[in-house]
This record gives sequence, structure tokens and C-alpha cells, in this order.
Amino acid sequence: MTTDTPGVRSFEDAIQRCQSLGMRLSRQRRSILELLWRSGEHLSAREIYHRLNEQGQVIGHTSVYQNLDALTAQGVIECIERANGRLYGSVSETHSHVNCLDTQQILDVWVELPPEVITQVEQATGTKVTGYRVEFFGYRQPSGPSGGT
Ligand SMILES: [Zn+2]
Repeated sequence: MTTDTPGVRSFEDAIQRCQSLGMRLSRQRRSILELLWRSGEHLSAREIYHRLNEQGQVIGHTSVYQNLDALTAQGVIECIERANGRLYGSVSETHSHVNCLDTQQILDVWVELPPEVITQVEQATGTKVTGYRVEFFGYRQPSGPSGGT
């Protein structure tokens, strides 16, 4: 993936990215993008397949997998590897995650580390940091924003 193309941060971005890449925007492909953006969750291919079919969208298993592969390969959607398989998210732009240990949800979050931290990392490892992703772990707080449903 090239670093000079900004990641996808909205549904409109996603559509535009597909068009500028010359990717065919089939009904199935559009449905997958819509589902990911509407739910705001990180879903497995199996979940995506089930939800689309629940919505009455007739889409085959293979088609779901092929579309997810294509969208991931082109950097239109996010793909994260977890111990129990791959999960797909709507935002392909570099972002961080909060892993909820109780609900098993993965929440997208944008954090900016203080420059001192970056410098520290660079000095400790002798590298030039050009990007980062932070994995947070924690529990839902009853008083916090409820997020999606
Ligand atoms: Zn994500």
C-alpha cells in the first residue's frame, strides 16, 4: 500500500476511491461498503454475509469473500488479523483501536501521540517513525458514550 494516498475516512471516500481505481461498483460491493459504514463495527466475512442476507440482499458466500479481498487489496477497507480470523472495518485510514475486553468490540479511535513519545521510540530503536497504530484494551464504562448498537 502506498503511503501518499490518504486512507478512506467516509462512505463517500470509499465510493470515490473505488471509482478512481476503476473498480466496478457492483450492487454487492456497494452493499458491503454500506453495511460496514452503517454498522461502524469490525465484522468477519461470515457476519457480513449473514447480515446482508438478513437484510434480504441476495449475495453468495464466495461473492462476499471476493469483494472483501478486492476492497482490502485496494485499501478501500480495513482488514485486521485476529487470532480467530480476519475482521473487516470501514475506515482504511491509519487509526487506533480500543479493544473492549467485556463486549469483544473493537472501537476506532484517532489518537495523536506527543512528539516526546515518538522521539523516545525512535531513540530506543534507532528508527525514523513514520506512522503508528495504538492498541488499547479496556472495559466499557456505564457513563461513557454508548457508541453504536
Ligand atoms: Zn478499525
